[in-house]
Amino acid sequence: MRLVLLGPPGAGKGTQASVIVREYNIPHISTGDIFRDNIKRGTELGKKAKEYMDKGLLVPDDLVVSIVRDRIAEADCKGGFLLDGFPRTVSQGEALDEELERISLGLDKVINIDVEKEILLQRAMGRRVCRDCGATYHVEFSPPKEEGICDTCNGELFQREDDKVETVEQRIKVYNEQTEPLIDYYTRKGLILNVDGSKSIDEIFEKISQSLQG
Ligand code: ADP
Ligand code: AMP
Repeated sequence: MRLVLLGPPGAGKGTQASVIVREYNIPHISTGDIFRDNIKRGTELGKKAKEYMDKGLLVPDDLVVSIVRDRIAEADCKGGFLLDGFPRTVSQGEALDEELERISLGLDKVINIDVEKEILLQRAMGRRVCRDCGATYHVEFSPPKEEGICDTCNGELFQREDDKVETVEQRIKVYNEQTEPLIDYYTRKGLILNVDGSKSIDEIFEKISQSLQG
Protein backbone atom coordinates (compact mmCIF):
# COMPACT_ATOMS: atom_id res chain seq x y z
CA MET A 1 0.00 0.00 0.00
CA ARG A 2 1.47 3.36 -1.06
CA LEU A 3 -0.24 6.19 0.79
CA VAL A 4 0.04 9.95 1.29
CA LEU A 5 -1.38 11.85 4.26
CA LEU A 6 -2.43 15.38 3.42
CA GLY A 7 -3.80 18.03 5.76
CA PRO A 8 -2.96 21.30 7.53
CA PRO A 9 -0.48 21.50 10.42
CA GLY A 10 -1.98 19.98 13.56
CA ALA A 11 -4.69 18.10 11.64
CA GLY A 12 -3.62 14.76 13.09
CA LYS A 13 -1.50 13.33 10.25
CA GLY A 14 1.27 11.99 12.50
CA THR A 15 -1.27 10.59 14.96
CA GLN A 16 -3.13 8.65 12.25
CA ALA A 17 0.14 7.68 10.58
CA SER A 18 1.36 5.85 13.66
CA VAL A 19 -1.77 3.64 13.69
CA ILE A 20 -1.96 3.13 9.91
CA VAL A 21 1.65 1.94 9.61
CA ARG A 22 1.12 -0.56 12.42
CA GLU A 23 -2.01 -1.91 10.71
CA TYR A 24 -0.46 -2.17 7.23
CA ASN A 25 3.11 -2.88 8.29
CA ILE A 26 4.64 -0.19 6.09
CA PRO A 27 7.30 2.43 6.94
CA HIS A 28 6.20 5.88 8.13
CA ILE A 29 8.06 8.58 6.22
CA SER A 30 7.60 11.99 7.83
CA THR A 31 9.69 14.73 6.22
CA GLY A 32 9.15 16.89 9.33
CA ASP A 33 10.60 14.09 11.51
CA ILE A 34 13.55 13.70 9.11
CA PHE A 35 14.31 17.43 9.40
CA ARG A 36 13.92 17.43 13.22
CA ASP A 37 16.27 14.46 13.44
CA ASN A 38 18.84 16.32 11.31
CA ILE A 39 18.48 19.41 13.50
CA LYS A 40 19.05 17.28 16.63
CA ARG A 41 22.19 15.77 15.08
CA GLY A 42 23.45 19.20 13.92
CA THR A 43 23.85 18.21 10.25
CA GLU A 44 24.18 20.73 7.39
CA LEU A 45 20.70 19.76 6.17
CA GLY A 46 19.33 20.34 9.68
CA LYS A 47 20.93 23.80 9.86
CA LYS A 48 19.44 24.82 6.50
CA ALA A 49 15.99 23.36 7.27
CA LYS A 50 15.80 25.01 10.70
CA GLU A 51 16.00 28.50 9.18
CA TYR A 52 12.74 27.87 7.35
CA MET A 53 10.98 25.73 9.96
CA ASP A 54 11.42 28.29 12.76
CA LYS A 55 9.68 30.89 10.58
CA GLY A 56 6.80 28.55 9.69
CA LEU A 57 7.92 28.41 6.05
CA LEU A 58 8.41 25.42 3.79
CA VAL A 59 11.89 24.06 3.29
CA PRO A 60 12.79 24.54 -0.43
CA ASP A 61 11.59 21.77 -2.76
CA ASP A 62 15.08 20.79 -3.94
CA LEU A 63 16.14 19.89 -0.38
CA VAL A 64 13.02 17.83 0.31
CA VAL A 65 12.52 15.97 -2.96
CA SER A 66 15.91 14.26 -3.04
CA ILE A 67 15.48 13.01 0.54
CA VAL A 68 12.14 11.40 -0.28
CA ARG A 69 13.40 9.99 -3.57
CA ASP A 70 16.26 8.24 -1.75
CA ARG A 71 14.07 7.09 1.12
CA ILE A 72 11.40 5.42 -1.04
CA ALA A 73 14.14 3.57 -2.95
CA GLU A 74 15.20 1.79 0.25
CA ALA A 75 14.45 -1.91 0.65
CA ASP A 76 11.83 -1.52 3.40
CA CYS A 77 9.64 0.53 1.01
CA LYS A 78 9.28 -2.34 -1.48
CA GLY A 79 5.94 -3.38 0.03
CA GLY A 80 4.67 0.20 0.30
CA PHE A 81 5.03 3.28 2.48
CA LEU A 82 3.12 6.09 4.12
CA LEU A 83 4.24 9.64 3.32
CA ASP A 84 3.30 12.13 6.06
CA GLY A 85 3.86 15.82 5.29
CA PHE A 86 5.11 15.17 1.76
CA PRO A 87 4.26 16.37 -0.86
CA ARG A 88 3.51 19.90 0.35
CA THR A 89 3.60 21.71 -3.01
CA VAL A 90 2.30 20.76 -6.45
CA SER A 91 5.88 20.71 -7.67
CA GLN A 92 6.75 18.13 -4.97
CA GLY A 93 3.66 16.13 -6.04
CA GLU A 94 4.85 16.14 -9.65
CA ALA A 95 8.35 15.06 -8.60
CA LEU A 96 6.86 12.18 -6.61
CA ASP A 97 4.75 11.10 -9.60
CA GLU A 98 7.79 11.19 -11.87
CA GLU A 99 9.81 9.08 -9.46
CA LEU A 100 7.01 6.53 -9.01
CA GLU A 101 6.45 6.36 -12.78
CA ARG A 102 10.15 5.78 -13.28
CA ILE A 103 9.96 2.68 -11.08
CA SER A 104 6.55 1.71 -12.58
CA LEU A 105 4.55 2.28 -9.41
CA GLY A 106 1.70 4.54 -8.36
CA LEU A 107 -0.03 5.79 -5.25
CA ASP A 108 -3.03 3.85 -3.91
CA LYS A 109 -4.69 6.68 -1.94
CA VAL A 110 -4.16 10.23 -0.71
CA ILE A 111 -5.87 10.65 2.65
CA ASN A 112 -6.92 14.26 3.16
CA ILE A 113 -7.60 15.13 6.82
CA ASP A 114 -9.83 18.19 6.87
CA VAL A 115 -9.97 20.34 10.05
CA GLU A 116 -11.06 23.93 10.63
CA LYS A 117 -8.59 26.56 11.80
CA GLU A 118 -9.84 26.98 15.41
CA ILE A 119 -9.31 23.27 16.09
CA LEU A 120 -5.90 23.30 14.38
CA LEU A 121 -4.69 26.02 16.71
CA GLN A 122 -5.89 24.13 19.80
CA ARG A 123 -4.30 20.91 18.60
CA ALA A 124 -0.93 22.36 17.62
CA MET A 125 -0.57 24.48 20.72
CA GLY A 126 -1.36 21.59 23.08
CA ARG A 127 0.90 19.16 21.21
CA ARG A 128 3.76 17.58 23.16
CA VAL A 129 6.37 15.31 21.58
CA CYS A 130 8.73 12.78 23.15
CA ARG A 131 12.35 13.86 22.83
CA ASP A 132 13.50 10.23 22.58
CA CYS A 133 10.96 8.25 20.53
CA GLY A 134 8.96 11.05 18.84
CA ALA A 135 5.56 9.85 20.16
CA THR A 136 2.93 12.61 20.07
CA TYR A 137 0.57 13.60 22.90
CA HIS A 138 -1.84 16.43 23.59
CA VAL A 139 -2.11 18.07 27.02
CA GLU A 140 -5.91 17.90 26.86
CA PHE A 141 -7.03 15.51 24.09
CA SER A 142 -4.42 12.75 24.39
CA PRO A 143 -2.48 13.25 27.64
CA PRO A 144 0.32 10.96 28.85
CA LYS A 145 -0.31 8.97 32.05
CA GLU A 146 2.26 11.10 33.87
CA GLU A 147 2.59 14.77 32.95
CA GLY A 148 5.65 15.54 30.81
CA ILE A 149 6.73 11.88 30.50
CA CYS A 150 6.31 9.53 27.53
CA ASP A 151 4.13 6.48 28.26
CA THR A 152 6.16 4.18 26.02
CA CYS A 153 9.81 5.08 26.69
CA ASN A 154 9.75 7.42 29.74
CA GLY A 155 11.38 10.14 27.59
CA GLU A 156 10.86 13.83 28.29
CA LEU A 157 7.97 15.54 26.47
CA PHE A 158 8.57 18.95 24.92
CA GLN A 159 6.70 21.58 22.94
CA ARG A 160 7.84 22.02 19.34
CA GLU A 161 9.54 25.34 18.59
CA ASP A 162 7.14 25.90 15.66
CA ASP A 163 3.98 25.25 17.74
CA LYS A 164 3.87 28.82 19.10
CA VAL A 165 0.66 30.60 18.10
CA GLU A 166 2.25 33.04 15.61
CA THR A 167 4.22 30.28 13.89
CA VAL A 168 1.19 27.99 13.71
CA GLU A 169 -0.83 30.85 12.13
CA GLN A 170 1.95 31.30 9.57
CA ARG A 171 2.12 27.56 8.85
CA ILE A 172 -1.64 27.45 8.26
CA LYS A 173 -1.32 30.38 5.82
CA VAL A 174 1.50 28.59 3.98
CA TYR A 175 -0.63 25.44 3.90
CA ASN A 176 -3.58 27.32 2.35
CA GLU A 177 -1.40 28.95 -0.30
CA GLN A 178 1.04 26.21 -1.21
CA THR A 179 -0.30 22.82 -0.09
CA GLU A 180 -4.07 23.02 -0.49
CA PRO A 181 -3.82 23.03 -4.34
CA LEU A 182 -2.67 19.40 -3.99
CA ILE A 183 -6.24 18.44 -3.02
CA ASP A 184 -7.38 19.36 -6.56
CA TYR A 185 -4.28 17.79 -8.05
CA TYR A 186 -5.04 14.40 -6.45
CA THR A 187 -8.83 14.72 -6.86
CA ARG A 188 -8.30 14.94 -10.62
CA LYS A 189 -6.28 11.73 -10.40
CA GLY A 190 -9.14 10.03 -8.50
CA LEU A 191 -6.95 9.33 -5.46
CA ILE A 192 -8.43 11.54 -2.74
CA LEU A 193 -10.07 10.12 0.35
CA ASN A 194 -11.55 13.00 2.38
CA VAL A 195 -11.94 12.44 6.11
CA ASP A 196 -13.49 14.71 8.70
CA GLY A 197 -10.57 15.42 11.04
CA SER A 198 -12.71 17.06 13.73
CA LYS A 199 -13.78 13.59 14.96
CA SER A 200 -11.96 11.51 17.59
CA ILE A 201 -8.66 9.78 16.81
CA ASP A 202 -10.40 6.36 16.82
CA GLU A 203 -13.32 7.47 14.63
CA ILE A 204 -10.96 8.94 12.03
CA PHE A 205 -8.87 5.78 11.93
CA GLU A 206 -12.04 3.68 11.60
CA LYS A 207 -13.13 5.75 8.58
CA ILE A 208 -9.69 5.51 6.97
CA SER A 209 -9.33 1.78 7.45
CA GLN A 210 -12.88 1.08 6.16
CA SER A 211 -12.16 3.12 3.02
CA LEU A 212 -8.79 1.47 2.43
CA GLN A 213 -10.36 -1.98 2.68
CA GLY A 214 -13.35 -1.13 0.48
P1 ADP B 1 0.03 16.78 12.30
O1 ADP B 1 0.98 15.62 12.13
O2 ADP B 1 -1.03 16.81 11.25
O3 ADP B 1 0.72 18.10 12.44
P2 ADP B 1 -0.49 15.57 14.94
O4 ADP B 1 -0.83 14.16 14.58
O5 ADP B 1 0.85 15.82 15.54
O6 ADP B 1 -0.76 16.55 13.66
O7 ADP B 1 -1.65 16.11 15.91
C1 ADP B 1 -1.62 17.42 16.45
C2 ADP B 1 -2.07 17.39 17.90
O8 ADP B 1 -3.46 17.08 17.96
C3 ADP B 1 -1.36 16.34 18.77
O9 ADP B 1 -1.17 16.86 20.05
C4 ADP B 1 -2.36 15.16 18.79
O10 ADP B 1 -2.25 14.42 20.01
C5 ADP B 1 -3.70 15.87 18.70
N1 ADP B 1 -4.71 15.14 17.92
C6 ADP B 1 -4.51 14.44 16.77
N2 ADP B 1 -5.68 13.94 16.30
C7 ADP B 1 -6.64 14.35 17.17
C8 ADP B 1 -8.07 14.15 17.23
N3 ADP B 1 -8.72 13.48 16.30
N4 ADP B 1 -8.74 14.72 18.28
C9 ADP B 1 -8.07 15.44 19.22
N5 ADP B 1 -6.74 15.65 19.22
C10 ADP B 1 -6.03 15.11 18.22
P1 AMP C 1 5.63 18.77 10.06
O1 AMP C 1 6.34 17.97 11.10
O2 AMP C 1 5.10 17.92 8.94
O3 AMP C 1 4.58 19.67 10.66
O4 AMP C 1 6.71 19.72 9.39
C1 AMP C 1 7.40 20.68 10.15
C2 AMP C 1 8.10 21.67 9.22
O5 AMP C 1 9.08 20.98 8.43
C3 AMP C 1 7.21 22.38 8.21
O6 AMP C 1 6.56 23.52 8.76
C4 AMP C 1 8.23 22.75 7.12
O7 AMP C 1 9.02 23.87 7.52
C5 AMP C 1 9.16 21.54 7.12
N1 AMP C 1 8.68 20.52 6.16
C6 AMP C 1 8.24 19.27 6.45
N2 AMP C 1 7.90 18.62 5.33
C7 AMP C 1 8.11 19.48 4.30
C8 AMP C 1 7.91 19.41 2.89
N3 AMP C 1 7.42 18.31 2.29
N4 AMP C 1 8.25 20.51 2.15
C9 AMP C 1 8.76 21.61 2.72
N5 AMP C 1 8.94 21.75 4.04
C10 AMP C 1 8.61 20.69 4.83
